Amino acid sequence: MRQHLIMGNWKLNGTKASVEALVEGLKAPVAAAANVEVAVCAPVIFLGQVEQLTAGSALKYGSQDADVHTSGAFTGENSPVMLKEFGCKYALVGHSERRTLHAETDAVVAAKFVAIQAADLVPVLCIGETLEQFEANQTNAVVEAQLKAVIDVAGIEALAKSVIAYEPVWAIGTGKTATPEIAQAVHAHIRAYLAGFNADVAAKVQVLYGGSMNAANAADLLAQADIDGGLIGGASLKVADFTAIIEAAA
Ligand code: PGA
Repeated sequence: MRQHLIMGNWKLNGTKASVEALVEGLKAPVAAAANVEVAVCAPVIFLGQVEQLTAGSALKYGSQDADVHTSGAFTGENSPVMLKEFGCKYALVGHSERRTLHAETDAVVAAKFVAIQAADLVPVLCIGETLEQFEANQTNAVVEAQLKAVIDVAGIEALAKSVIAYEPVWAIGTGKTATPEIAQAVHAHIRAYLAGFNADVAAKVQVLYGGSMNAANAADLLAQADIDGGLIGGASLKVADFTAIIEAAA
């Protein structure tokens, strides 16, 4: 059985005060939902604070990106080895905002995936189609290509030590969620595609849904057989909303 994983993506949001309030507010709901893993992906500058605040709590955390390099003359970058030192368990990789705003190609995403695993972090590989691709019925082909790019470089076995997040770009931050049926169909396709390489890996890997998941729609999405959790942006910034999603997953 795959465990549910509820992961917040805070994006570029937060203050020292809001981070403290959010983490403190999540401790009790996280403790109460012992069968669900909960994690937050914080801006890197807050990771030291999150490390201190989460001591003794089951709340896990991670970064929203990582560089391919571990150290050196790479001004402004964040090393996966440093993220590990600050207690991160996860690192998002290939989020659509990175792919679009930072021109991250499939090749860059694959290299980062490998670097993240080499630092003993769990990559959360974000994939998903744009609205144009969705309307042209290209969803399956797009997610296959995004997965293949990583499999070619990292190998299929590496996917067993990763998490996949299916995030239709048209649903991110738009309030338009994929229906549970649409999301389930894509998740099942992702799993079937992976099974073509290795059935064990396909059965084991957690596939999260992301894109306007909220307190109202989480239960229906999480009830789908191949949806193993959520990657949540906007609704992860409020204790009450994120708690409701954690409870829906429990
Ligand atoms: P959203 O963001 O929940 O605000 O749509 C999800 C994401 O980008 O990971």
